[in-house]
Amino acid sequence: MSTRDDGPPGTQLVVGVDIGNSTTEACLAEIGPDGSISYLGTNLTRTTGVKGTPDNTAGALSAIRGALARGGRSAGEVHRVLLNEATPVISGLAMETITETIITESTMIGHNPTTPGGEGLGVGTTRSIGELGEQEPGQPVVCVVPPGWDFDDAAAAINAAVGSGVEVVAAILAGDDAVLVTNRLVRPVPVVDEVAAVEKVPLGMLAAVEVAAPGRTIRTLSNSYGLATVFGLDPAETRQVSPVARALTGNRSAVVVRTPSGDVTDRRIPVGELVLRGAGKTLRVDVDAGAEAIMDAVARAQPLDDAHGEPGTHVGGMLAQVRDTMADVMDSPGQPAVPVSDIAIRDVLAVDTFVPAEVRGGLAGEVALENAVALAAMVRTSRSRMQLVADLVSEGLGAEAAIGGIEGEMAVNGALTTPGVDRPVAVLDLGGGSTDAALLTREGKCTAVHVAGAGELVTKLIDSELALGDREVAEGVKWFPLAKVESFFHIRHEDGTVQFFDEPLPPHVYARVVVLTPEGPAPVPTRHGLDSVRRVRREAKRRVFVVNALRALRQVAPAGNLRALEFVVLLGGSALDFEIPDMIADALAPHGIVCGTGNVLGTEGPRNAVASGLVRAYAAAPVRAGQGPTR
Ligand code: ADP
Ligand code: MG
Repeated sequence: MSTRDDGPPGTQLVVGVDIGNSTTEACLAEIGPDGSISYLGTNLTRTTGVKGTPDNTAGALSAIRGALARGGRSAGEVHRVLLNEATPVISGLAMETITETIITESTMIGHNPTTPGGEGLGVGTTRSIGELGEQEPGQPVVCVVPPGWDFDDAAAAINAAVGSGVEVVAAILAGDDAVLVTNRLVRPVPVVDEVAAVEKVPLGMLAAVEVAAPGRTIRTLSNSYGLATVFGLDPAETRQVSPVARALTGNRSAVVVRTPSGDVTDRRIPVGELVLRGAGKTLRVDVDAGAEAIMDAVARAQPLDDAHGEPGTHVGGMLAQVRDTMADVMDSPGQPAVPVSDIAIRDVLAVDTFVPAEVRGGLAGEVALENAVALAAMVRTSRSRMQLVADLVSEGLGAEAAIGGIEGEMAVNGALTTPGVDRPVAVLDLGGGSTDAALLTREGKCTAVHVAGAGELVTKLIDSELALGDREVAEGVKWFPLAKVESFFHIRHEDGTVQFFDEPLPPHVYARVVVLTPEGPAPVPTRHGLDSVRRVRREAKRRVFVVNALRALRQVAPAGNLRALEFVVLLGGSALDFEIPDMIADALAPHGIVCGTGNVLGTEGPRNAVASGLVRAYAAAPVRAGQGPTR
């Protein structure tokens, strides 16, 4: 009988603790002599350190203390802390570009200057503004204005040339005076400005200048056949300039200069070969073949024993780095170092993505969307250090701490407290680093798997595809719905509905695409419109979570057959997402599966499943430590 208990004889105060990659959760409960459970409080905090390492202690202690405070209990009353046994799983993320647009001759300018002038398309030969007078009448000219020209002088020079019969069809400026120049022209033409490297525009060459109307994007120069029409290209030449068209897509204005030796290439960068070992096979796949080919190979090598990348290639470096990080976190003073050979990559998720990259050879900081592959790799070691964490928690709290159960099994156990859930059931734990599935059969047999890639990968995809360069902003785009601030008093939500406000909105959100956080609208610093931000967000979620949900469930389903599953409960932080659960339910519905978000203990939503599962497992155990057999 415990001497610490204040409650009725035989009751025990226990805390279940789930240390995850991102979050540490605690569940405090009192267990009666008959195994009955009264839940007293839950809590969660950020995980400290890499999951499964001694650094987790601080986070675990603060989660426990928080739960104790909520339950009105003290650490001295705790009979036992129950920790989850988790195979250390770390997920490494890497992204490599597999295409590169290079324009060796200066053939293209495409950007979004704030102030282009005029509108339309002008095609002619490039001439410096100082040489306009030398042009023969009747030949269309694109006028190039070097830096230092005043807008009045430039407009006067162009007007004078036009007056003497020169057909000026467009102009390219270094400064930002396009509107001022255009307003002074006797015959308005499209004018592109803010071209920093205007001196590099080749003279005497055929060029096309296009400026779209406000709120529009260019139509001709962003279309391969538009370029072919303007420059009279044959099919081979059209293929050659197609990267130019792609790089110019979405711009308000553009210039394309045709130089005879112009060499535009769309190079594929060899990223390297991924070597997968599993199911008695060794499979090799080129990473630049894309996500589908990679995932196909991963599926054929199931269960995966290990994965390597060809040394000296991008993918080789990527996987080696994940392995090294794991070796580092597993090292601890007084213990022999963990050999890198002990660390196996047990799963890989590949996702096709694109990254905006500056075009080599562009004149105005043009970017092209280059294809890339993102890889999430999951590493496991043979050595678990949870016992060490338990010892440290015990020392820090002054109460006994032990390992109370395996994570996957405990997650199902906790999910069973959701109203309407019973055996047989499968759970999907949508976390930060990994997506975990577990199946509990009618007979009580449990199987669990982890697959690489979850919430962090979604955040990373959003961050890079929108070129945000800020993880926190990307996390906000993932969590919250979008809106467009249309006036100081109203916004349009992403579903098209309009909301009005009594108080004016802050000026910094005016006319911006915003995320609707609980603290109010926050601008998304991107040049993309609401629709494309929304598309990027939803695609990132779908490519990670729908793919992984199906992959993980197939691995636990009897004979890999999804139809054999009837009920799926979604758990974990990413099950709180406002659209991921619906996407997964939609993907599972054709297989006849009932899928919904868990509500652990009837109150906790998808959170706290593992922690409360640990408490339930302890209460159900026929022999509870320090108490002898119940009854
Ligand atoms: P783990 O079990 O790996 O510690 P969690 O279950 O805490 O992970 O899930 C962490 C993930 O959940 C993170 O990627 C985080 O962005 C995501 N997440 C947490 N809350 C929300 C929310 N309200 N909406 C969308 N995603 C969320
Ligand atoms: Mg978790």
